[in-house]
Amino acid sequence: MTKPVTVAITGAAGQICYSLLFRLASGETFGDRPVHLRLLDLPIAAVQQACEGVAMELRDCGYATLASVTVHSDPFEAFDGINWALLVGAKPRGAGMLRKDLILENGPIFTAQGQAIARGAADVRVLVVGNPCNTNALIAASNCTGVPNERFTAMTRLDQNRAVAQLAMKAGVPNADVTGVTIWGNHSATQYPDFENARIGGKPVTEVITDLDWLQNAFISTVQQRGKAIIDARGKSSAASAANAAIDHVKSFEAATAPGQWFSAAVVSDGSYGVPAGLICSFPVSSDGKGGFSIVQGLEMSDWAKAKLAATVAELQEEREVVGHLLG
Ligand code: NDP
Repeated sequence: MTKPVTVAITGAAGQICYSLLFRLASGETFGDRPVHLRLLDLPIAAVQQACEGVAMELRDCGYATLASVTVHSDPFEAFDGINWALLVGAKPRGAGMLRKDLILENGPIFTAQGQAIARGAADVRVLVVGNPCNTNALIAASNCTGVPNERFTAMTRLDQNRAVAQLAMKAGVPNADVTGVTIWGNHSATQYPDFENARIGGKPVTEVITDLDWLQNAFISTVQQRGKAIIDARGKSSAASAANAAIDHVKSFEAATAPGQWFSAAVVSDGSYGVPAGLICSFPVSSDGKGGFSIVQGLEMSDWAKAKLAATVAELQEEREVVGHLLG
């Protein structure tokens, strides 16, 4: 009998979850394991009612793998005994809102959720999607007594997927030919998408795409600004591709990473690559498929790349200072 998996998802009435929940339930993410879904959102009648509607649709899919779906407004109840917490819910950044203000608005949500996860779950892994996700993960981890910080991760997989697609399009190859792309640092406009260690068809990217100016400028800024470009084009945020990346993130941590490969995720720094220990920073990560992971060591960086990494790490340090009063 396969072991069931219990997953709590916050922001369950929101846009990302409307694309995410069905793929958690369907067997795509957890194979044939029975899935218990806990949908958590704000204790507001209309929001809870919207969650009930999503729960009805999930049941109506008739998935063989969906063991139960319940709706919650109390995080202590929703996080009790879970295996995964996907923290999607957060206030989106309003027009003209400074990043610092967003951090201060959303920080307290993650203080409370960290405390609830500590009380409720002994064997849990956490993915933070709600922005600013690196710093929100730091807040949740530091308020979650008894759960190792290594269990808290934040999502940079959408940035990785965007970078892969840009490189594949430029080279005129399928996405599957692009490997070894790393997103370093913060999930923000300072992130550094690393092409120096990536490969196309097994060759260094710079041998296939010889336009270094494009790689160092247009490629990086396209990936950094992609969220805004999608809002400009669509009039709404990139919810479906964010949900897709969240699924990729969970699957990558659940499976053993193939030798010599890695994926991008923001995890707690152990000092690797000179990133101050304790920051939640995006690195190249390899999973052992048994709940453990490691930061992949030994990737070479030019001085230019090291400066990019330093800039995004400096932003993470500034964010940590802004939320210093929320860190447990
Ligand atoms: P979405 O579901 O579209 O987005 C949720 C969060 O994900 C936002 O913080 C958003 O940040 C972030 N995000 C990360 N990557 C992406 C991406 N690529 N594209 C879009 N968003 C991304 O927001 P909705 O407004 O539709 O829904 C939010 C839900 O959260 C609501 O149901 C609300 O009630 C709930 N909520 C729950 C809280 C709680 O549980 N305590 C607190 C606050 C809200 P950004 O927009 O900055 O990119």
